[in-house]
Amino acid sequence: MSTYKVSIDRSACIGDAICTALSKNWFMDSDGKASFHRETIDDSEYESNHEAEISCPVAIINIEKLS
Ligand code: SF4
Repeated sequence: MSTYKVSIDRSACIGDAICTALSKNWFMDSDGKASFHRETIDDSEYESNHEAEISCPVAIINIEKLS
């Protein structure tokens, strides 16, 4: 079982909500920018979070393998 760290450069988020359509870990916050529920995820959530990472049009989502 691997774990991964989720991060985002929120200052550059354009609020198009693509990530929220791809992963339940992501939601649109009250300021119109994306946020995530869990900073540390495991293999069961990696695929959907990785889809969000590679689909973000401004490439501000990062999924980093921890272990
Ligand atoms: S896909 Fe990227 S730009 Fe769009 S809401 Fe999510 S983090 Fe923001």
